[in-house]
Amino acid sequence: MRYNSILEAIGHTPLIRLHRAARGCLGEVWAKCDYLNPGGSVKDRIGTAMVDEAERKGWLKPGGTLVEGTSGNTGMGLALVAAVRGYKAIFTMADKQSREKVDALKALGAEVIVCPTAVAPEDPRSYHSVVEKLGREIPNAYHPDQYHNPANPEIHYQTTGPEIWEDCEGHLTHFVAGMGTGGTITGVGRYLKERNPDIKIIGADPAGSILYDFFHRGEVIKGEPYKVEGIGEDFFPTTLDFSVIDDVRRVTDKDSFLWARRLARMEGIFAGGSAGTAMAAAAQVLPELTAQDLMVVFIPDTGLRYLSKVYNSEWMRDNRYLESSLPWTAQGILHARADLGQPGELVKAAPADPVATALELMQSHDFSQLPVFDAGQPVGAIFEDDILNLALDGKDLKKVVVREVMGAAFPVVAPSATMDQITAHITRECPAVFVDLGGGQYQILTKYDLLHAISHLVEMRG
Ligand code: PMP
Repeated sequence: MRYNSILEAIGHTPLIRLHRAARGCLGEVWAKCDYLNPGGSVKDRIGTAMVDEAERKGWLKPGGTLVEGTSGNTGMGLALVAAVRGYKAIFTMADKQSREKVDALKALGAEVIVCPTAVAPEDPRSYHSVVEKLGREIPNAYHPDQYHNPANPEIHYQTTGPEIWEDCEGHLTHFVAGMGTGGTITGVGRYLKERNPDIKIIGADPAGSILYDFFHRGEVIKGEPYKVEGIGEDFFPTTLDFSVIDDVRRVTDKDSFLWARRLARMEGIFAGGSAGTAMAAAAQVLPELTAQDLMVVFIPDTGLRYLSKVYNSEWMRDNRYLESSLPWTAQGILHARADLGQPGELVKAAPADPVATALELMQSHDFSQLPVFDAGQPVGAIFEDDILNLALDGKDLKKVVVREVMGAAFPVVAPSATMDQITAHITRECPAVFVDLGGGQYQILTKYDLLHAISHLVEMRG
């Protein structure tokens, strides 16, 4: 492919199927990878679109200055246009944005003014107020104002929406995206709804942002600071149109960041925290999908901008998003197993069941053994090998009952049992333990669960 400038390489980003991150989901889940735009984010699309419009309408003259308040990505999109077309660029950013974003803008020749995060938008020190002042005071300045510029949702209506629709060949049923200016979800949502009004448009909002309450209760409840960058607001942007949105899900910083790390480690999709927010919101909906459903999750920006945060385990631990010690207790492993979407229901046989029934159960679950319970208590275990021996001896498996062939019950441990205590029980002959959850409830932990939980925990925390 050959382009006349970097700006022509914007858009037509790939849709990539998710496998491990969507494990257990009946429908298909795909990621719209806008982090693969040349400037590393979705905002390349609006940077060019807003400048094109300003040039067309005479708001921006040759040699002019672009000024914008940005969480970094819009700045990058504008900095690309400024570089190619010879404009000056000055950006204001809130001080919670990562160092990498400030450095990247400077690398492209822009000037960056860092402003405090913990002030109201109307405070003269906020990045919104500072940029407005710059727009008024600098001669031949143009302030695109992505939060109130209709060219922002419009470019998503013109490009992002059609790309997704065409790549899904009409099978799309759900679209999930984070909301900052709301340009992405509004433009894409409007286009998709026009094609098929049944497509569900789902917004992802960080806990602390006002958008979730505004959507569900119609009122603004004061926001709280949160760490995820680029999405959620403490005011309502006019580029956000709730009428095309069916649902808004709330996601904590911790879930956003853990999901971003999972996307990287499970799928090789190396994206920012807001992709994690969208993925965490998607994960809330995944269990509802049927085999006919196809969901697209929007991936706004690259993980390279967050090496000192989301992808820095020390920062994650300092902020309590990662546990500093691994929860290697029986309970911790059961939770890790549940996190992986594995069913918690205990599959068991009764002493009076025919061996053939127990064998069918084992085969349908792909287990090599089954615990045997009588009156709610573990009384034994039955193994595939023993059943095989019976069959080889010519026994009729429908006539022999489990009681006649079962071995001793697996040892019982408390939920607080440590990894060492659990593994002390596990041998070749005894491949599992029971965890006594109290109230007559038991769970089984097999050798396989232990290995799987360890590799999962290491993967998530490394
Ligand atoms: N994620 C990141 C990292 C962003 O910078 C932005 C834009 N602020 C978004 C998501 C949200 O996109 P939009 O403004 O189109 O709602």
